[in-house]
Amino acid sequence: MSIFPLPPGSTIGVLGGGQLGRMLAMAAARLGFDTVILTPEAGACASRVAARTIAAAYDDPEGLDTLAQFADVVTFEFENVPAAAVEGLAALGVETAPGPLALAIAQDRVDEKIFLNASGAPTVDFAAIDSAEDILAALDRLGAPALLKTRREGYDGKGQTWVESHADAAAAFERIGRAPAILEARADFVRELSVIAARGRDGDIVAYPLGENHHEGGVLRRTSAPAEVSAALTAQAQTIAARILTKLDYVGVIGIELFELKDGQLLVNEIAPRVHNTGHWTLDGCEVDQFEQHIRAVAGWPLGPVTPLAHVEMENLLGSEIEAWPTLAREAQARVWFYGKGRPRPGRKMGHVNRLRPLKD
Ligand code: AMP
Repeated sequence: MSIFPLPPGSTIGVLGGGQLGRMLAMAAARLGFDTVILTPEAGACASRVAARTIAAAYDDPEGLDTLAQFADVVTFEFENVPAAAVEGLAALGVETAPGPLALAIAQDRVDEKIFLNASGAPTVDFAAIDSAEDILAALDRLGAPALLKTRREGYDGKGQTWVESHADAAAAFERIGRAPAILEARADFVRELSVIAARGRDGDIVAYPLGENHHEGGVLRRTSAPAEVSAALTAQAQTIAARILTKLDYVGVIGIELFELKDGQLLVNEIAPRVHNTGHWTLDGCEVDQFEQHIRAVAGWPLGPVTPLAHVEMENLLGSEIEAWPTLAREAQARVWFYGKGRPRPGRKMGHVNRLRPLKD
């Protein structure tokens, strides 16, 4: 018999202890769930709002065994959880949501692009790269400049470099540490957008209004949502999201980053099989935010409404910007979310602010 829907009082396991885990735990608590966090990081910011923390490496058999004892279902808050962790949990009879397929695909940029195109979610042209010679051959097809990214473990613009020309190929391969990589044609985009969507255990799919995103140095700076987009563009994004979620037999919230081209076509940049920074605006802008939505999906509850209630400008607080907290706390339109992290290293995501204004009619 299915254990779903999980009743309040059940326990949700989360692999990862960062701010996404923290906000998941807060949402879970509101629905009457306890959260148990597994993280190798001492003093993780999610641990301080969770019922219990297991301090262990993600693939530590003992840690996973303890997690399996406490948790009724396990989810993750970042996509570089080793596949061995999810397999280990499955062997112990614990389900993870999203499942291992979504995790595996999001961990490898080449597999991800192959999957997306096969799903009917278009991307830029690309080539798999294992040597400087591969780059030279791919440049002939993709044109220069092209963006070289490591296949695995890149995030927030890390492990990426532009290849300016054929003459730059060998040096570019050195710059990313000669790791297996992908070379991507340059997307000539007019805007970066994202769609946060969710799929429930019953196959129901919802998508939030699009967010317009601004990055600096590869890191998200601001999201403005709902973005000013045509109904046709929204429909295009919803179709893309539905195709991806259905093909992955997905359960939970997914973040899909999009490029909007001049002609109005959307290309998928990447998918994140988890709650997403560009969805933080939903915390104050929507009836049910992305964190509650994810917990609902994972627990087998019906999905909640994604209706926007306000326009939100979400701004990340990076590094020492958190020191402006007294001023931010005084701002009437600003809803502050501070992650309770320790030292503000440069570029570290320390919190975010949602500034609200009424929706246009
Ligand atoms: P990513 O780590 O893949 O999300 O890339 C970080 C940022 O680099 C994106 O938000 C874009 O601004 C830019 N970018 C990524 N891929 C491309 C591409 N193929 N063409 C142009 N810009 C890109």
